[in-house]
Amino acid sequence: MKTRLMIGLRHAGLTFCALLAAVLLVAAPSAARGEEPAPAAVKPDLCQRAKFRVVIDVGHTVDVPGAMSARGIPEYAFNLQLARQVKQSLGDAGFNEAVLLVTTTAPWRGLFERAARANAMHADLFIAIHHDSVPDNLLQTWQYAGQDEHYNDDYPGYAIFISNDNPDRAGSLLFGRFLGHELEARGLQYTPHYTLPLMGHRRRELVDAKAGVYRYDQLIVLRATHMPAVLLEAGSIVNRQEELQLASPERRTLTSAAIVAAVEDFCAARAKPVEAKAAAPVKRVNLNPQLRPSVTPARSGSGAMPAH
Ligand SMILES: [Zn+2]
Repeated sequence: MKTRLMIGLRHAGLTFCALLAAVLLVAAPSAARGEEPAPAAVKPDLCQRAKFRVVIDVGHTVDVPGAMSARGIPEYAFNLQLARQVKQSLGDAGFNEAVLLVTTTAPWRGLFERAARANAMHADLFIAIHHDSVPDNLLQTWQYAGQDEHYNDDYPGYAIFISNDNPDRAGSLLFGRFLGHELEARGLQYTPHYTLPLMGHRRRELVDAKAGVYRYDQLIVLRATHMPAVLLEAGSIVNRQEELQLASPERRTLTSAAIVAAVEDFCAARAKPVEAKAAAPVKRVNLNPQLRPSVTPARSGSGAMPAH
């Protein structure tokens, strides 16, 4: 566990350095080579953390608590505990506008209510926090604390979902990729089982096979939100080993850190077009006036996308 963590931290460092190098190369190709940049100067300049509002949606409700873990603990309890830590960690990182969204209204009305509340807040990003299970036909029975409980040990790992029906599908995918990369950098792996035929109508298209981003168009909280939105299944609580990890402070800290890092990446990427616009008057001197309106935003927009 300790070795894994250290490897993860090393990867996180490498990822940050690579990102930093990419940002500097885009910003100043001639000055970047051979110079050691000051890390603190880059992200805060691009991202206005205090104004960037992230809504952290706690999946399910007290009364309709979602899946049941291998040891009989409802998913809602896992979701609430992780979401609280994510909000805390975002606040610690300067994202003071982060909002914890707890809903008591049952689905389906409750699902639309979540999206409506995020829309009314004009959130910049929506993250639904869930923990995974498997279809009932894949569950097995065991005895835990004198009770019959249900488990499946085959498919540990996280999964990220986006909807093509979200009005900012590109933003949703961008954040999903950042999140997957940050989770992977901390030694976590996504579960590929949503691509398997045995998943039946729950089978999903894998949009990004490195980051673990799946397409799930029908999810109401992803399609009815007006801002980029992802749903994170943080891991499988029916997997008897992973359930123990997901219940530990260490795993929550790891996942929260990945989410905060991904929010930082996303906030910085989304801030780039503003930076480019500010620099536009200098470039306009040599440009054909007919081309001005489209050229600069298009370049800055494509520059913000990660290469895959
Ligand atoms: Zn759920």
